[in-house]
Amino acid sequence: MIAGFAYEALPMRVRFASGSLHEIAQEMDHLRIDRALILATPEQRELADDVAASLGDRAAGVFAEARMHVPVDVARRAGETARRLRASGCIAVGGGSTIGLGKAVALDSGLPIIAVPTTYAGSEMTPIWGLTEDGAKRTGRDRKVLPASVVYDPDLTTTLPVGLSVTSGVNAMAHAVEALYAPDASPLVSLMAAEGVRALAASIPGIIADPAAGEARKGALYGAWLCGACLGATTMSLHHKICHVLGGTLDLPHAPSHTVVLPHVLAYNQPNAPQARAALAGALGGDDPAGRLWELIRGWGAPVSLRELGMKETDITIVMAQVLAQPYANPRPVTRDGLTALLTRAWSGEPPA
Ligand code: NAD
Repeated sequence: MIAGFAYEALPMRVRFASGSLHEIAQEMDHLRIDRALILATPEQRELADDVAASLGDRAAGVFAEARMHVPVDVARRAGETARRLRASGCIAVGGGSTIGLGKAVALDSGLPIIAVPTTYAGSEMTPIWGLTEDGAKRTGRDRKVLPASVVYDPDLTTTLPVGLSVTSGVNAMAHAVEALYAPDASPLVSLMAAEGVRALAASIPGIIADPAAGEARKGALYGAWLCGACLGATTMSLHHKICHVLGGTLDLPHAPSHTVVLPHVLAYNQPNAPQARAALAGALGGDDPAGRLWELIRGWGAPVSLRELGMKETDITIVMAQVLAQPYANPRPVTRDGLTALLTRAWSGEPPA
């Protein structure tokens, strides 16, 4: 059955190929960026330096101070550096934290961003920005921060540690799961969601077996692209709300929190989302996608409890209060009892129910 829908495509270019890092200069030509500031985390400085070296005098400089949750002072310094070096664009090489920094610079300056993702988080496909000041994270949507161009080079993901590859992959799947039952779901996005989940689930075992495996890395990044596009196209629900509180208020790590929570939210929502359930059953196998996902995650050696991520049991009440305080769309009404049971299971590491 096809329900009525609305769909709007986001204006951006995507290049996907092994070795496409070397095509950044062509993207700069296309976007008329003559000099670009390269952004990275301190841990990925070497990669940023390599990009700068390959661009010669078209590299305005390297700013390798990106950090989780985009602190306002870091964003300000990155913006000042771009101005001082007369950059006409930024190249964000890294995961969601680095691409988030690029978005913060774009929000303030309007400079175009070329994103070169090295994790599966999906920020490069969304117009969503986030900034942290005095411990509080503000987020918003603005077309200005959508990267003008995304260069996916699977070769850059071979250095992503196996543990983070798995949790980042499940983080990507979470976007697709919630897109399938989103209030603004639509057929094209649902196709991307099912295919994204399938591609990631099929590729993760190959990455665990050999982190440098070319085909598995390609498959996972391809899945991450599709899942990121789902995040950019739809409104997220209970899962993302819970994870926003876990990261923003309790400072739990982003991708592992998504990994622990997703099967539990899916188990809660799938009775009220039959089309999403069918699509995910097709992508993951079996007829209980939530249970299947939990088993896969456990088999991949990823965390299955919030307790092992450092959360205290008493923190459940903090998460409850914040999740219940704001209304948002969810296929199944979020009740106090339902949420308590869900969070208690996720905290202790029981299978979803
Ligand atoms: P991250 O960007 O914080 O990266 C984690 C660590 O892994 C960093 O030290 C990084 O340098 C390193 N790393 C990244 N890629 C690597 C590679 N290929 N090899 C070796 N090391 C590598 O982690 P993330 O999970 O990608 O991003 C999380 C952040 O992104 C969160 O703050 C989250 O809120 C944000 N995010 C935003 C959106 C959005 O649409 N705005 C979407 C998804 C995530």
